[in-house]
Amino acid sequence: MNSQNVFEDALRRIKAIGMDAGVSSEVVESLLYPRALLQASLPVRMDSGALQYFIGYRCQYNNVLGPTKGGIRYHPRVDQAEVQALGLWMTIKCALLGIPFGGAKGGVSVQPKDLSPMELERLSRAYVRAMADFIGPDIDIPAPDVYTNARIMGWMMDEFEAINRLRAPAVITGKPVHLGGSLGRDEATGRGAYLCIRELALKQGWQAENIRVAVQGFGNAAYHVARLLQKDGFNIVAISDSKGGVYSKQGFDIESLWQEKQSSRKMRAVYCEQSVCQLIEHSEISNEELLALDVDVLIPAALEGVINSENADSIRAGTIVEVANGPIQSQAEARLESRGIQILPDVLVNAGGVTVSYFEWVQNRAGYLWSLEEVRNKLEQQMKTAFARVWQVAEVEKRSLRSAAYTVAMRRIGEAVMSHGTRE
Ligand code: GLU
Repeated sequence: MNSQNVFEDALRRIKAIGMDAGVSSEVVESLLYPRALLQASLPVRMDSGALQYFIGYRCQYNNVLGPTKGGIRYHPRVDQAEVQALGLWMTIKCALLGIPFGGAKGGVSVQPKDLSPMELERLSRAYVRAMADFIGPDIDIPAPDVYTNARIMGWMMDEFEAINRLRAPAVITGKPVHLGGSLGRDEATGRGAYLCIRELALKQGWQAENIRVAVQGFGNAAYHVARLLQKDGFNIVAISDSKGGVYSKQGFDIESLWQEKQSSRKMRAVYCEQSVCQLIEHSEISNEELLALDVDVLIPAALEGVINSENADSIRAGTIVEVANGPIQSQAEARLESRGIQILPDVLVNAGGVTVSYFEWVQNRAGYLWSLEEVRNKLEQQMKTAFARVWQVAEVEKRSLRSAAYTVAMRRIGEAVMSHGTRE
């Protein structure tokens, strides 16, 4: 599915759920148009001495609930429609979690694996130079997303501070801890997802040891959710990266796979003890094969649209937990639901990241330094509250969990729109 279709698909969901939940048509309409979009060319001096141009985007989708918030993605597929779809989902996510932010998203169309660290730094600084008037602690606050990380956030903050000749750590979240980042931000998306699965397991009466899990993707969020699930006894039987994956009936030691991935950049089925890693029995599988595995829980944790009308009927998992943003296309969703497959939606599951980003922003502004325990406790509280609210609306109003999550979010946005009065 191309990005234009992803955005159109996102709008279809808003319209359908909004109408069904009785949200006023004005409020639904306010969610159909991005508030502002900046596209900029980013000239970057490459190590070879040549100048190369990249295209950067930032979409401030909706700011009714507060300054806009959302990550910056480095990926060849980034374009205007994609940042719009992602900005819309950020709007719903922040509203659902009850944090005082609107939604935004940014990105650069680039293959970051082809850049040297110095080129990556120059690109990141060029992005901020282009966006400097568009972002700010009370305007729009970026964060990491696919293929961006704390180091990149640090460069970006530094560039923003140099341009404005002031200290402004709250302009960006997901920074390195010694530059004003929050403890626990790194693991927050994965931990939030893990907390949702734990709540679901309680509702369903699951015994962790009996639950087989397949994870598509092995970035930061996938690693932490898999690691935490495994610690609780869940059996992670398959995991993949963009090139392919591994399957083993008896399950993997996630920490070993992660260590190996960090050192060799490869997805290898290993078990490591005191830094000595040995291959374990496994089969190699493609990403398509992973999605079709007969498991209890499937966790798409990479990119949007991976479960679509072409492969929906091959999905055999009983529950899909969306750690990625938008991994299931809406047409495919209807087919999955008709087969009784339960879907825990992205706007709830991966909201731990932006929740701890909010904690980071609060700490930066107030000069607090919260302990890891404090951050984890606050995150747990926030995720449990959101999960309970979604579950309750789903039960009382007989809705899917996605429809319930959107309903809660859209009603909150609706109340804010009404409270703003007639300002146009
Ligand atoms: N990129 C993350 C997301 O999609 C985090 C955004 C943030 O922390 O602002 O939720």
